[in-house]
Amino acid sequence: MARYRGPVCKLCRNEEEKLFLKGERCYSAKCGITKRPYGSGQHGQSRKKLSEYGLHLREKQKLRFKSGIISEKQFSRYFKIAARKQGVTGTNLLQILDSRLDSLVYKAGFAASKSQARQLIRHGHFLVDGRKVDIPSYRLKLGQEITVKIKSQKLLKAIMEEISMSATPRWIVVDKDKLVIKYDSLPERDELDPTTKEHLIIEYYSK
Ligand code: SF4
Repeated sequence: MARYRGPVCKLCRNEEEKLFLKGERCYSAKCGITKRPYGSGQHGQSRKKLSEYGLHLREKQKLRFKSGIISEKQFSRYFKIAARKQGVTGTNLLQILDSRLDSLVYKAGFAASKSQARQLIRHGHFLVDGRKVDIPSYRLKLGQEITVKIKSQKLLKAIMEEISMSATPRWIVVDKDKLVIKYDSLPERDELDPTTKEHLIIEYYSK
């Protein structure tokens, strides 16, 4: 399936939930959900109750969108990897999603949203263990370090000054002066997105 290129606020309105896809705007009065807290489209204000399958599908879609509007194909590949790994499949899935380069750059406060993180990565501003990586879905291994190219450091500092970030997650070590992000340890489930009901996603793929 082709990558979604439509208005991202519409995705939130379809889910009737904030998915935080637009950085600072999501926290402002300009947020599409704040302005119109009902679904998009002609029937947005008269939603039917979802079937069991519908609930599973919606939960899977929400996580797919929140993780950077990643493709269905890639998301299902992540699920298969998570299911094969030892441990709890749902937690494995969330850990895999959060080990992506775009996620780490965003969570470290180097970009205002995952879409901005992806754009910066594609433009080649980042190095992983000293090598240029311009693939947003690149998955880091524990202990690897993300740095910013010398030529891009001024730009990144300017972007970071505009971001009012919440605390950096425990499992990432960030040096904002030297612009270094270290993927230090695996997050525990309670340190990951509390709104995701991963058991519904497991149900979706068990069909
Ligand atoms: Fe969703 Fe953010 Fe748009 Fe609000 S501003 S509808 S949270 S993407």
